[in-house]
Amino acid sequence: MAKEKEQFVNQIADIETDFPRWYTDVVLKTKLVDYGPVKGTMVIRPYGYAIWENIQKELDARFKATGHQNAYFPLLIPYSFMTREAEHVEGFAPEVAVVTVGGGETLAEPLVIRPTSETIIGEMYSKWLQSYRDLPILINQWANVVRWEKTTRPFLRTSEFLWQEGHTVHATEEEAMEETLKMLGVYKEFAETCLAIPVFTGRKTEKEKFAGAVATFGMEAMMHDGKSLQAGTSHYLGQNFAKAFDIQFLDKDGTHKYGYTTSWGVSTRLIGALIMSHGDARGLILPPVVAPVQAIIVPIAAKKEGVLEAAAELKAKLVSAGVRADCDVSDNSPGWKFNEGGMKGVPLRSEIGARDIEAGEMVLVRRDTHEKTEAPLENAAETVRKLLAEIQSNLLEKARKRKEERVVTAESVDGILRGVESGNFVKAGWCGCRECEDKIKELTAASARVIVEGEHAEKCACCGKEAKHVVLFARAY
Ligand SMILES: [Zn+2]
Repeated sequence: MAKEKEQFVNQIADIETDFPRWYTDVVLKTKLVDYGPVKGTMVIRPYGYAIWENIQKELDARFKATGHQNAYFPLLIPYSFMTREAEHVEGFAPEVAVVTVGGGETLAEPLVIRPTSETIIGEMYSKWLQSYRDLPILINQWANVVRWEKTTRPFLRTSEFLWQEGHTVHATEEEAMEETLKMLGVYKEFAETCLAIPVFTGRKTEKEKFAGAVATFGMEAMMHDGKSLQAGTSHYLGQNFAKAFDIQFLDKDGTHKYGYTTSWGVSTRLIGALIMSHGDARGLILPPVVAPVQAIIVPIAAKKEGVLEAAAELKAKLVSAGVRADCDVSDNSPGWKFNEGGMKGVPLRSEIGARDIEAGEMVLVRRDTHEKTEAPLENAAETVRKLLAEIQSNLLEKARKRKEERVVTAESVDGILRGVESGNFVKAGWCGCRECEDKIKELTAASARVIVEGEHAEKCACCGKEAKHVVLFARAY
């Protein structure tokens, strides 16, 4: 115990000069995660899992409001399913984990531990779907997936992670495309409202799209260091999986037709996005909507008469008003408690001591601005809720400002390189060919994040030929 406490108060690496180390320090010291015994795996500790639960709660409500239901499909998938869609197996084969022995015996057919569930869900949909009356099928699954990654970092890239995957079937191309874009919109609204992370959305290039999709749309978030994090994707799968898994229905006109499918997902990566979007030199800053603890009460000179009671009373008042409040009654010093709450990103701290109680007041300190104010204890809940809302919108505003200020345009590969090296996203013209995209990546370490809609450039920044699209380039996690 003493050892863990000591580690906790130690300095974290400097956020400006060593961001990767800062990230690792923060996720470990705030007890969000720990490394699992198998290389590349992570243990999500209670504080990290509580953030995930809040993310789930918010997203799940949105999925249900848009007509989706939850279901659960098996973790193990027959290997042969993977090979039915050619692009899909090519994309996922290098990173699947395969089970070959069960109950001490070699299996007749090896089983894949799901890296994603299009195949097994497609198989079930082909059984369930009979008539146009069964459409659309709108199902979401909350699950874990396994992808054998070579380089891993907690939340950002691990060989097992938690996510949700929506899988839908529609009668027409138009309806399936509408669903694909609708869910991208749901993700974007959720990211801004709940995570206070504004995102760029758009279509992915062929190189960056999901293996087996006709089109992939992604949302990209700008991190503190100017790198991009793909925070969610929505795929229009056309009839690729419908044909591979025989997802057919009897239409009104009496003929059998293949359905059009979509899939869309976000994962525990979003916790990485939160950390790298809002954190500062002192550690995490969590947006109130998803913070496990929204307000931490620190009793000052707790041994004095009435202090602990007043702190408990304040906590009860806040909790009954729907605030996730906690009271730090440990025997650590107030200074240590301030640091701990600060590092863990608790949005609001309330200090309460004998003098405050006499004056009928408490001290409130915001995590985002460090601003300190005194407020009457009488309508504490109202004041706290108002401040939490202000913190939420201030975090979004700050992130939005960064997102707007740090986008530059370039007309050459050199320009793209200069842009990303100074921590920006770069908009540049692109002819549409894979060779140029590859070359840009090779020379700048930046990849095409999304195609920017509604903007035009004359020439491809790489080859100088006519530009087909404006693309947002960035270095990415
Ligand atoms: Zn080109």
